[in-house]
Amino acid sequence: MTKETEFWQKVMELAKTAMTETTYDFYIIGSQCLSIEGNQVHIYLDHPSKKMFWDRNLRDIILTAGFEVLDKELTPLYSFELENQIAEPTLSPTAYQVRKKVYPSAPTNLISKYRFDNFIIGEGNRFTTMAALTVPDDPGKGYNPLFIWGGPGLGKTHLVHAIGNAVLEQHPTARVLYLTAENFLNQFVSSIVSNSMDKLKENFRNLDVLIIDDVQFLAKEKYDSTLEEFFNTFEALYNNDKHIILTSDRMPKELNDFPERLVTRFSWGLITDITPPDFETRIAILREKIQEYPQLEFPQTAIEYLANQFSSNVRDLEGALKNISLLAKGKEVSTVSIEIVAEAIRSRTPDSPKMTVIPIERIQEKVGKFYGVTVKEMKATKRTQNIALARQIAMYLTRDLTDNSLPKIGKEFGGRDHSTVLHAINKIKDMLATDDNLRLEIEEIKQKIR
Ligand code: ADP
Ligand code: MG
Repeated sequence: MTKETEFWQKVMELAKTAMTETTYDFYIIGSQCLSIEGNQVHIYLDHPSKKMFWDRNLRDIILTAGFEVLDKELTPLYSFELENQIAEPTLSPTAYQVRKKVYPSAPTNLISKYRFDNFIIGEGNRFTTMAALTVPDDPGKGYNPLFIWGGPGLGKTHLVHAIGNAVLEQHPTARVLYLTAENFLNQFVSSIVSNSMDKLKENFRNLDVLIIDDVQFLAKEKYDSTLEEFFNTFEALYNNDKHIILTSDRMPKELNDFPERLVTRFSWGLITDITPPDFETRIAILREKIQEYPQLEFPQTAIEYLANQFSSNVRDLEGALKNISLLAKGKEVSTVSIEIVAEAIRSRTPDSPKMTVIPIERIQEKVGKFYGVTVKEMKATKRTQNIALARQIAMYLTRDLTDNSLPKIGKEFGGRDHSTVLHAINKIKDMLATDDNLRLEIEEIKQKIR
């Protein structure tokens, strides 16, 4: 049995128990596991509209099955066409079809909704956006590497996906790959484990455009060999006129753990930053984003009120919109009043940026103190109710505030299994949905951790 088959059987088994038969028949039957490469599982769905359901409901199942069968944290990638349908001979195959044939399932990881045409240009991002727009004209030339840095939620990820999507529109045969620094790291680590480093390197070298998001995480633990490989990949691509696009939460010279020669190379192209949007830009962004809520009417006063509340993070602004729509739905109103905006802002838990810099020990300590549990107890096996709950909350917060993997979190909590961690996180999430007190407590603890 291939690892794909085994993995897929597990997914099906878990899915069956997690939903009604009708739901299972509609959403799950007809899907296929195309391949597992590194930490990515490529899944075929017979209709694009099913992706949202999978995103919401199959994530944990895929994680669990990935761990149980392959012992790794798999990220799903969905496609909606089967290989043999694409490869059907036509009279004059376009370059695009040829590419699909040659590289059957080369995933780009690009998110299609992040485009230039829905990225609002304002003072804080004007120069960077202009630089980004030049890449698709002549990939490999111009600003190469393009290094974009700036605070969380300011559109770095959106912008680099937009570049990738535009490159493919203008050069359908180009090979573009988007990776978070974490994906990049995982791919290297797993290729070392499976002894397939050469194949991975070749994959990278065949690219035309490589995008690595949040490079600051490459140095998060002592992955010296990964940085070394990153350097080699960088050199190989650069010397072959391939485009490299990087984002970071800080400027290159503040990437302390990076070798000097790497930092130097970052400045061979263009280093450019994004700063928070001004009021006018925030209004424009809101006007763009409210299109996702056609059922709601937003008076100008409400938009301005909202734009005034968030000045330095567009993601927070979007989160507030989501809350507003939920609240409006609950109240069965279609016009968003200032009162609703205010209430939505009050009730929301800010989804703050993940910060790997927060040590797990600090989270354990703060949660422990709040509930009268010691760090030692948190790591021990004892299961009295209040210790268990504190432990679960600490695990939840660790996942929420840092980007430690499930196994790593398990390890830091007395060598527990990843599935125990996943269970804890889901349990707290469920509780948070109904328990206002808990939500307040967790907010309070979060303040203490930061
Ligand atoms: P970053 O990677 O810098 O943390 P993201 O690219 O993830 O930020 O942006 C967070 C959210 O804000 C995304 O949903 C993105 O679409 C939106 N966003 C940020 N800046 C803009 C902008 N100028 N126009 C439209 N949407 C934006
Ligand atoms: Mg980002």
